[in-house]
Amino acid sequence: MAGSASATAAQVAPKTAAHKPASRTPAPQTNFAPWKDPAKSPIVRFENVTKRFGDFVAIKNCTLDIYEREFFALLGPSGCGKSTLLRMLAGFEKPTDGRIFVGGKDITDLAPYERTDVNMMFQSYALFPHMTVERNIGFGLRQDGMAKGDIEARVAEAMALLELEKFAHRKPHQLSGGQQQRVALARAIAKKPRIMLLDEPLGALDKRLRQQAQFELMRIQETTGTTFIIVTHDQEEAMTVASRIAVMNHGELVHIATPGDIYEFPGSRYVAQFIGDVNVFEGKVTAIHDGTVDIEWPSGQGQFAATAIDGLSPGQQVWLAMRPEKLRISLAKPTTTCNTIPGKVIDVGYLGSISHYHVRVASGQTVTALRANSAQTVEQNIKWDDDVWLEWPHDVGMILTK
Ligand code: ATP
Repeated sequence: MAGSASATAAQVAPKTAAHKPASRTPAPQTNFAPWKDPAKSPIVRFENVTKRFGDFVAIKNCTLDIYEREFFALLGPSGCGKSTLLRMLAGFEKPTDGRIFVGGKDITDLAPYERTDVNMMFQSYALFPHMTVERNIGFGLRQDGMAKGDIEARVAEAMALLELEKFAHRKPHQLSGGQQQRVALARAIAKKPRIMLLDEPLGALDKRLRQQAQFELMRIQETTGTTFIIVTHDQEEAMTVASRIAVMNHGELVHIATPGDIYEFPGSRYVAQFIGDVNVFEGKVTAIHDGTVDIEWPSGQGQFAATAIDGLSPGQQVWLAMRPEKLRISLAKPTTTCNTIPGKVIDVGYLGSISHYHVRVASGQTVTALRANSAQTVEQNIKWDDDVWLEWPHDVGMILTK
């Protein structure tokens, strides 16, 4: 599966900009969606940007608008061009074609140091080993020739924001990976850029620290009001932190939407499989009526019904994508006949609050279903090798045509 979509659906519960995780502080920006407001101008615009390295096209004709205060994620598999796009914005690579604008100004030909609105935090952190934490954080400000008192105030502010005060006099080798990452972030934040670029900023952290750091990043982004653009190959991370996500493949932006919309309406199998767990059933359209489409599963396992999308015609090959948490799994045969399939449990994963079932159906396909381990369902304990039924309402599957 593309991107191995390893996260459980519970971990990547659909969100929109108006529906952020509860632990996010301060309160989420409820109606934050500047990309829907025609009166808003983007803070960053890539206009028909192409980047070639010799004969290799790393970025293909990319057009992208990012708005002030967004937490924008570039997501995609290794080598898809995420870092190249970010590096072009920072000025470390020059587009072969196209223009880049920041705040309406064409910055394509500016050197990195001339792009004062933009600051980049590197994956390697690039800390100076001989400098203390506070000297590291103040480095860029000293380079800019800022007055000593102002530097001290900025450094103190950045250290407080990242809770680094007690490490002020340590050198990088006396810090953990997570602490070093916070110093690198503090150094970038201290310059108060309008746009912060983060290339896999949490790559060196273990899963627990990484999740903690994601919430820290969100807090800092909201506290400072900075526009964050993050590169990540981790779909859970993008779903957690971002107001919008651009999913990339082979140098192209294949889908740009909020985490919730990408999860619910991915638009293609590539995106559906890249974001969260999904079951994909291939079939052919047999009829379309009253906003519903009937689909025949090729293995003769029956008909499915789903909410129709525009442009379908009888005989067309389509895919029905179904999130595991939308499937109902039961030992008893459902009373309805449409959207039900029998199968055998071949694997059960107990994850505490939920269980994960892998069910082999007659076509040979393995279908994943999730079930909450609530009190009501405990009496119906589904086990390995049980014959079960899978069932879903017609309006929860997504019809995909590519
Ligand atoms: P990763 O997640 O592995 O960092 P990525 O999506 O950020 O990958 P990029 O670093 O943007 O990918 O690279 C995109 C493509 O461009 C890759 O195939 C890479 O090999 C190629 N590439 C990047 N920089 C250069 C370069 N300086 N010369 C030649 N090819 C390059």
